[in-house]
Amino acid sequence: MKPISIAVVFVIIILPFLFITGQQAEIAKEDLKLRCYYDYVIDNAVQDAAFMLSQRAGQLTYGENPDNSSLKDLLVKDFFDSLYYAFNVYGNKTLMARIESYVPVLVYLEWDGFSLYAIKSFKNEQGITEVRHVWLTKKHYVGEVLDDRYSIRYTLSDHVYIYDRVSHSVLEGNYYSFQDRIPSFNDQQKFYDLKLASIRRSIEKELEMYMEEYKELAGSRRLSVDFSFPSVDQGDWKRALEDQGLLIFAQGFPVLRGQKYEHYALGCARIVRRALLVGYHYDIRKLFCKTSCDFYHREVEASPGFDAENIIYFNNAYDAASDGFSPCPKCRP
Ligand SMILES: [Zn+2]
Repeated sequence: MKPISIAVVFVIIILPFLFITGQQAEIAKEDLKLRCYYDYVIDNAVQDAAFMLSQRAGQLTYGENPDNSSLKDLLVKDFFDSLYYAFNVYGNKTLMARIESYVPVLVYLEWDGFSLYAIKSFKNEQGITEVRHVWLTKKHYVGEVLDDRYSIRYTLSDHVYIYDRVSHSVLEGNYYSFQDRIPSFNDQQKFYDLKLASIRRSIEKELEMYMEEYKELAGSRRLSVDFSFPSVDQGDWKRALEDQGLLIFAQGFPVLRGQKYEHYALGCARIVRRALLVGYHYDIRKLFCKTSCDFYHREVEASPGFDAENIIYFNNAYDAASDGFSPCPKCRP
């Protein structure tokens, strides 16, 4: 970091800590406090933003198509607003930009893919070069080719998209509906492992590509924070896959001593979307299931009397019951 740029932040953040220190041991203690404070502020900002996301998107069902671009813009705005307020720099453009530079990359995780919100250099409409966060193109969670034949695109749920390289056809649906074609999908744990590895690799690949750009940018321009490849615990990757959310990488916040500050934080929206319910005739009964119900997919759909024309979708159990459908005893919708 250049001396001039650190000076600004030094005054607002570090100076108060130094006032009460003097000795090495004290400095070490204050350094730890400062790092913990950054962790706390960043974790809170991510969780706040994710909470707001769940508030805004909570009413949506999978069938609806929300204006995702504005949803993700609000998400990152909430995140940075929290940081500006925590560091008391709201309204001060220079210091706000300084804070932004300490969080060079954010990853917005969606059901069927992810987008990086990262610092880039570009020419604006007036032809002036700007260096700031922009959304990069959304990418899918692409897995390795299975059985030399199937290219798989994963989602945060059990839904998969499959490209069959032999028949050149595209299939989609719950992974267990392809168990007869793809042996790896016969074992739930194996499927989850494949999915986790694929999503992780997709994001890491994208981050690696961005790192190259960032290095070039840092070498040629006024970026002062040196950004190193973030490592994320396996357990946190698993958590990241639970739901739509935000994964952020913070680096370079000023510290008093020792190693560079590095932190990542994850906020999951845990959006409880109202999954669609499916009503159907089975034997002589009218039943309804969650669309993810194993019993429905394994037994009902495969039964000889099943008529796909006859199925009906409901938004909630109340509507289904009103129509004379009884809840499936297996998935308890
Ligand atoms: Zn069921």
